[in-house]
Amino acid sequence: MNKNAFEKMKNILRQILPQPVKSLIKKARILTLRGSRFYCPVCERGFRKFYEFGINPRPNAMCPGCGSLERHRLLWVALCDLQDKNLIERGAGRLLHVAPEPCLAEKFRQKYDYISIDLDGKKAMMAMDITAMTFDDNSFDAIVCNHVLEHIPDDKKAMKELCRVLKPGGWASIQVPIKGNVTQEDLSITDPKEKLRLYGQEDHVRYYGMDFIGRLKEAGFDVRSISKTDLLGTDEMERVSVALENEVILCGKIR
Ligand SMILES: [Zn+2]
Repeated sequence: MNKNAFEKMKNILRQILPQPVKSLIKKARILTLRGSRFYCPVCERGFRKFYEFGINPRPNAMCPGCGSLERHRLLWVALCDLQDKNLIERGAGRLLHVAPEPCLAEKFRQKYDYISIDLDGKKAMMAMDITAMTFDDNSFDAIVCNHVLEHIPDDKKAMKELCRVLKPGGWASIQVPIKGNVTQEDLSITDPKEKLRLYGQEDHVRYYGMDFIGRLKEAGFDVRSISKTDLLGTDEMERVSVALENEVILCGKIR
């Protein structure tokens, strides 16, 4: 069976199998992949390999246990490090999760008074547009909004909104795909194939460069960049499998 036929069969099975059977299959697969070569700090389990993932498939990208990708694992390592050093609050406050990633949602729910939003209400606790949020100013101690802004035409408004609802002294993880130094953006481009070619995905409206940090500062954030080499040794980087990521960008709000 070729790879396409195998993928098609997997999708059909996904649709027809009842949820308890799917959960059992997933648990069995996780067991067969247990090992020590790789470690996921999000679900705190070891595996002999991670799944490959991406439009251009990256080997050992996705944790079989919780579905975390490189960026989730590196963010989690950075948050734990900052918490250990008492540089950010350990929890107990309110956390806003935008377009929630299930692997992180589970972790944040354990530590924070947790609220999730998405433009599509089926994907979160509430339906909401981040360019026009209904929350009061200074509502949240923490915000996680990863890989969202590259989908939003008026990203400046979205960033200002995120900054508005963050409490002074709070922290925000606002991740985007970054390539090069200067953001590539032409909002007149609507053809999905052209967007895929230019921005890496059919529903992205730009490819951010490192000037993304300047955009965050313009919106009112205080920005710090934490290099993965400050968080993990060479062996740990391989074991956690974070080759795709270089740093974690975390935002604060001074006032
Ligand atoms: Zn995991």
